[in-house]
Amino acid sequence: MGERRRIVLKMSGEALASSASDETIDASMVERIAVEIARARDELDLELAVMVGGGNIWRGTTGAGAGMDRATSDTMGMLGTVINALALQDALEHQGQVTRVLSAVQMAEVAEPYIRRRAIRHLEKGRVVVFAAGMGNPYFTTDTSAALRAAEIEAEMLCKGTHGGVDGVYTADPRLDSSATKYDEVSFMEVVSKDLRVMDLTAITFCKDNGLPIRVFDLMGAGNIMKALGGEPIGTLVR
Ligand code: UDP
Repeated sequence: MGERRRIVLKMSGEALASSASDETIDASMVERIAVEIARARDELDLELAVMVGGGNIWRGTTGAGAGMDRATSDTMGMLGTVINALALQDALEHQGQVTRVLSAVQMAEVAEPYIRRRAIRHLEKGRVVVFAAGMGNPYFTTDTSAALRAAEIEAEMLCKGTHGGVDGVYTADPRLDSSATKYDEVSFMEVVSKDLRVMDLTAITFCKDNGLPIRVFDLMGAGNIMKALGGEPIGTLVR
């Protein structure tokens, strides 16, 4: 078997929601993303793992801000990612992708436990892996979890799909500053020193320390997942 490129795609939970639906998950959004992921995986013949967030359901900081115990609130957030992961698995399987959900929090009836070698085995067999429950520890985000898993499974790149209309890394927040310009490429150092908002600092420094490049792109644009996973110069490359 030839060497296939191995990539981790991070998508936020909010990408699965929409204003058209009262629900936290809009099935038509999930389907749309699954169609794009399936097409990219097939045409590019990739080994693809997806880390899905949970922000459409719960964020740990929301509860902590209201006086909840942070660890409890973060655990609620992690469980939210499992709901999203199951929705994505279902949609990917409807697109003909054999998909395994690997959860960092054990729940044997629902998903396989995350075991590094098992994740790699699934990928080698051509299955899509969906990582659920982040890394299983409170005080972390799914961005950092995606970076960790990418390093663990020796992925060549982390693709971070955004959903808020910002299609890469800018010199300033383009929603607030009309003079902001987009970087085609930017170094980890610059992201940190200029406090550019890409991912949280924990995730950025982890990627820097482990030489893991990040492609930041607009997940929602038609065909963008294919371009990002295919290594085309879309969005911003951080390395
Ligand atoms: N979370 C956590 N540990 C992890 C991953 C996630 O505690 O390893 C919690 C955290 O509270 C976070 C929530 O799960 O706010 C949802 O994840 P995230 O905010 O990263 O989702 P996204 O913004 O990508 O939708």
